[in-house]
Amino acid sequence: MALIGADTGLQREIDNIWGIDDHAHPMPLGLELPGDPAAPIQPYDFELPKRMRPYNPEYLDAWAALWGYEHRDFETAHLGDLIAAKNKVMETRGTGYNSWVLDQVKIDRMVNININLHDTLPSDRFPWCAHVEWTLYPFACEPAHTGPSRMLTAAATRKREALGVAEAPPTLERFIDEVILAYLADSKARGAVGIKYNTPYSRGLDFSDPTYEEVAPLYAAGVARGALEAAEHKAVQDYIFRKTVLEAGRLHLAVQMHTGYGVQPQFRIRGSNPLLMEDVFRQASGTRFMLLHGSWPFTREAVALMGFPNVYNDFSCADIYHYPRALSDQIRQALEWFPEKLMYGTDAYSDWAFGMLSGIPSKANPLHGWEEKLWIIDRTGRQALGLALSGMVADGVISFKEAETYVSWVMRDTVSRFHKLDG
Ligand SMILES: [Zn+2]
Repeated sequence: MALIGADTGLQREIDNIWGIDDHAHPMPLGLELPGDPAAPIQPYDFELPKRMRPYNPEYLDAWAALWGYEHRDFETAHLGDLIAAKNKVMETRGTGYNSWVLDQVKIDRMVNININLHDTLPSDRFPWCAHVEWTLYPFACEPAHTGPSRMLTAAATRKREALGVAEAPPTLERFIDEVILAYLADSKARGAVGIKYNTPYSRGLDFSDPTYEEVAPLYAAGVARGALEAAEHKAVQDYIFRKTVLEAGRLHLAVQMHTGYGVQPQFRIRGSNPLLMEDVFRQASGTRFMLLHGSWPFTREAVALMGFPNVYNDFSCADIYHYPRALSDQIRQALEWFPEKLMYGTDAYSDWAFGMLSGIPSKANPLHGWEEKLWIIDRTGRQALGLALSGMVADGVISFKEAETYVSWVMRDTVSRFHKLDG
């Protein structure tokens, strides 16, 4: 649907192109928390940005489109019936359910950022990226060993054991070889198209460049004590990170970096500024990086960094932070500078993934799943792209023909090229 200021013909093309979503969190069927029909909405105990709150009326649009919801309200009895209606669709569609959801919004493929590979997420529709934040947590970090970092330390132990490495390797060199490089090689062999970090949820993006000689004794102390204090821990992380992204480039695994705002009470926004990684982008010039979510509020910094040949930008999640008109400004800025490097994405997530990422207990909100978010976010992303391109055509910045080319780049081609989805 074209908004005021959008060219109707161009918008129709955008609405009808089959997109490739560069970043989202689809759920394996059956893993969503079932929810309570008597209390179908369970809000978090901190305030989300307005548009992300559970009573956003756009959910009514999504429920109508996906499950045939006929009401325009959030009445508990109606929502209890709606949970049953949604469950019925899941049951009927079975293993084809998640692919059916993609069809509803004309998404051809969705890059799956999830920890679970699953037969309801077939790789021809859901190519996947490996979560690697755990690689930065070989030990606990003292004293702030809370929330996501505790979860990540536990995950690091599980991942190491799954690679057949029963004990923490005694030296940093062996840790890099036997855990980090082995995990990347294993992920690549299992078909991963990239790796994903959500670093600013637990620390800043200011990765320094320490030497092996500086870090090796710290690593050894960590093995001996099981924990390191914050400054020592950071140096170990910085070293591991640099090694990992260099190897990712060698293996043609793209790197998705969370940049910009994060929804979580303890999130530190200033540590999410992508400019903090400028030296990394230069050093790891053979590695492709994606600045997730357009780095809002650091959107201008993100556009400037697109000048690095290996740095790309996307608007996943920005399309739920922002309404279409505000998002269209962000999109237009990127397209006026580096039109070949902006990608469509949704970041569609269920509350289960949200809780996991934030290190808080997940709430059971099955009516606010990745499917509903996808429907809302996809509409916003396409409308914002329509507004941005229509404005550029109206102002004589690009021709209508160029606008059509940009639609194809943003919605499909650049995502495919960035992740080498088509060879
Ligand atoms: Zn995400």
